[in-house]
Amino acid sequence: MSFASLGLDPALVRTLNGLGYDRPTEIQQRAIPVVLSGRDVLAGAQTGTGKTAAFALPLLQRLSGSRAAPRRPRVLVLTPTRELALQVRQSFEDYGADRPVRTCTLFGGVGMQPQIDALRRGVEVVVATPGRLIDHLQQGHLDLSRLEVLVLDEADRMLDMGFLPAIRRILAALPAQRQTLLFSATFAAAIKQLAQQFMRDPVEVQAAPLNSAAPRIEHRIHPVDLARKKDLLLHLLAADSGRQRLVFTRTKHGADKLCRLLERAGHRAAAIHGNKSQGARVRALEGFRTGAVQLLVATDIAARGIDIDALPTVINYELPMVAEDYVHRIGRTGRNGQPGEAISLVCGEESERLRAIHRLLGREIPQVEVEGFVPTEPLKLTASGAQRRAAADAPARPPRPGGRRRGTARRGTNRRPERADTARR
Ligand code: AMP
Repeated sequence: MSFASLGLDPALVRTLNGLGYDRPTEIQQRAIPVVLSGRDVLAGAQTGTGKTAAFALPLLQRLSGSRAAPRRPRVLVLTPTRELALQVRQSFEDYGADRPVRTCTLFGGVGMQPQIDALRRGVEVVVATPGRLIDHLQQGHLDLSRLEVLVLDEADRMLDMGFLPAIRRILAALPAQRQTLLFSATFAAAIKQLAQQFMRDPVEVQAAPLNSAAPRIEHRIHPVDLARKKDLLLHLLAADSGRQRLVFTRTKHGADKLCRLLERAGHRAAAIHGNKSQGARVRALEGFRTGAVQLLVATDIAARGIDIDALPTVINYELPMVAEDYVHRIGRTGRNGQPGEAISLVCGEESERLRAIHRLLGREIPQVEVEGFVPTEPLKLTASGAQRRAAADAPARPPRPGGRRRGTARRGTNRRPERADTARR
């Protein structure tokens, strides 16, 4: 399968070859022909699958194909975070290097004026976070009456971040005649509702099975008592110093604290989270990209859209509150068919969160005890009667297509995990 056989024009294919893209990824193979046909697309794809090119390439082709309304927004991409907005815009610029398509980003935390100036000069592609886009719309800086395509990128994350009312307001300001593309790693009921309400007979395409983690990633849990987590992390890092890791914490405060601890232990660490300025976030990411920063400590929201090639390991220092975030976190590793590793340090207090992750994945993650850090109590992998009743009252999640993966699931016991004398790697 080649890019040309998907219907992309030769100039785009040349640009892609220049970027070292030899063949389309799965989501690109499935989505590009449908986007080119003009139909709405509901795509299940997480970061790392090549989803950005899956919409940017056919849209660039569409933009150069007709001369309608030059310098007026024709494509609007909504993203949950500024980092992702910057990356999406960069992708449009990279893939569209051969054509005069103008792009801009609109997001909060920076001044309005440069964004207003960019809009006045005229742009065809606007990449925006929902809140700042509404500010511009309200102040009349932006005319979306000629919009042709709306892309909702990482729609599940936008909903998690409370952007649903903003998205509804934006949708109300758009022409009814348009193409709508929705990309999401997971499909909770609210996403399906949004799709039903605002999309027309969408074609569903899927990069990986719904609600499942990316393939070729080895998942592992190290059970540990809460009080010993820090020491276990330092122990694991000491065993393979120098490798780059993305380390997740649940809170901003926790990220700062852990970052200081790692620095005191002699590691080159940096933290990114929502309380950091845009400049500090960019510097931390840049440091991680160049290798100056070895350990990047991140919260879930700040980590959205981090695009780092060949990141072998994600460490969950704390499990996320929302099970879907586990899938998003590990979407940062195992890119482009490279093997990846997702290591979670889990204490008894996190048992319920672990069970939610197991339910989402449809399987249990193997546990490996580390010598010297064996917890006083095993993790509780089955809920108590009361917890089971509460879970039964919660809205049901549709079963994952394809069923449970083979080989890893051993359900229904609070058994002791397999034992490793020393943690691997
Ligand atoms: P995304 O899922 O859009 O965040 O893309 C993940 C990474 O894959 C980015 O670094 C892209 O530059 C890269 N990428 C996208 N499509 C291809 C392709 N067909 N071949 C090689 N790399 C790709």
